[in-house]
Amino acid sequence: MALIVQKFGGTSVANPDKIRAVAQRVFKLHQTGHRMVVVLSAMAGETNRFVDLAQQMQNLPDRREMDMLLATGEQVTISLLAMAIKDLGGDAVSLLGGQVKIHTDGMHTRARILAIDDGLINSQLDQGKVVVVAGFQGITEQGDITTLGRGGSDTTAVALAAALKADKCEIFTDVEGVYTTDPNICTTARKIDRISYDEMLELASLGAKVLDIRSVSIAKGHKVPVHVRSTFTDTEGTWVVEEEEAMESNPVSGVTYNRNEARITMSKVPDTPGTASRIFTPIAKEGIVVDMIIQNTRDGNLTDLTFTVPKPDYKKAMGIIEKVAAEIGAEGVSGSENICKVSIVGMGMRNHPGIATTMFDVLSREGINIQMISTSEIKISCVIDEKYTELAVRSLHDAFNLQQQ
Ligand code: ADP
Ligand code: ASP
Ligand code: MG
Repeated sequence: MALIVQKFGGTSVANPDKIRAVAQRVFKLHQTGHRMVVVLSAMAGETNRFVDLAQQMQNLPDRREMDMLLATGEQVTISLLAMAIKDLGGDAVSLLGGQVKIHTDGMHTRARILAIDDGLINSQLDQGKVVVVAGFQGITEQGDITTLGRGGSDTTAVALAAALKADKCEIFTDVEGVYTTDPNICTTARKIDRISYDEMLELASLGAKVLDIRSVSIAKGHKVPVHVRSTFTDTEGTWVVEEEEAMESNPVSGVTYNRNEARITMSKVPDTPGTASRIFTPIAKEGIVVDMIIQNTRDGNLTDLTFTVPKPDYKKAMGIIEKVAAEIGAEGVSGSENICKVSIVGMGMRNHPGIATTMFDVLSREGINIQMISTSEIKISCVIDEKYTELAVRSLHDAFNLQQQ
């Protein structure tokens, strides 16, 4: 008898029929004697609909109230699934994050899990129930509802698996596993059978939204075996596990893209000590996470500074930067929300020269202009115009022979 945590994403619970199908799947496994915790997302599209509603009320919606709204989507699906399991003759109980006591900090809309109380879940499991938990949400010490950031149900599932010392965490989604690139935009993408936590961390951090990055880092920290697989088939998916020697043989293991960033450029910035700090301190104070930063020196003690921020923070960051630019005497501020960061990732890149050149050649052959570049030991990212995303991903996937390995 194992303890299994299963998480079903938004497309897996998108309507009553799909919820019934999930109930059947869960019920069947539960009947074989396993202890089961099931984490759910909101129905596909619901969280986006709430964001849209909030924006109709307030230009930059209050984050506490936003969480109050966003957390409702998961309440709908967990109650419906518990009903559907009972309808099949099983026993189930649905629980909100606050009822389980998933304690988080107070950073509304991007809260971090601090601790999980396993008492209530264990007592319900002891009574033979399937415990159905709302993903993506928690509660502060003061009793305020928080959410964990978009895609956060994966994090709830893996964190619960770690807290309960589950035997495995299964992430059910609308694709059959983790692929060499997004199978929805590249038909030759190949499913990866096993991937290391570290490589998965890189893929997730660079845009492979099949797993939320925080779920991967919790899995790594607590050695939770994660199995990413399809809700709609019984096919074996991808196991996310500790690093194995064989994984390093291919220099590039995946291509990712992230359309969720925006670019801001401040031009003709006076080149004096302390300027970067004056620019980025007010941005950090607002909790905005800056990703890539590039500085170019010009003649006459001036520099141009370009950086990227998450798209939802673009308006706020622009407001701050326009103010700072005026204060420090920078000549201009411009920006674009129509960008995409395309990356190639691979642990094996550490030992293979020439990978970056191949990437730049491929993009130039396709007539795609590179706006920004950033590299680390195991990844190379280029910012390009958003409209070339698919073309860039497919050409890079082809050029590095990812379909043939
Ligand atoms: P869920 O609602 O189940 O959490 P998500 O939409 O968050 O599902 O994640 C699954 C999606 O991730 C897939 O439909 C696919 O388009 C996308 N994706 C991006 N990169 C990859 C990749 N490398 N492998 C698999 N899926 C990927
Ligand atoms: N419903 C939330 C979202 O759409 C959380 C999740 O699905 O993981 O981001
Ligand atoms: Mg997701």
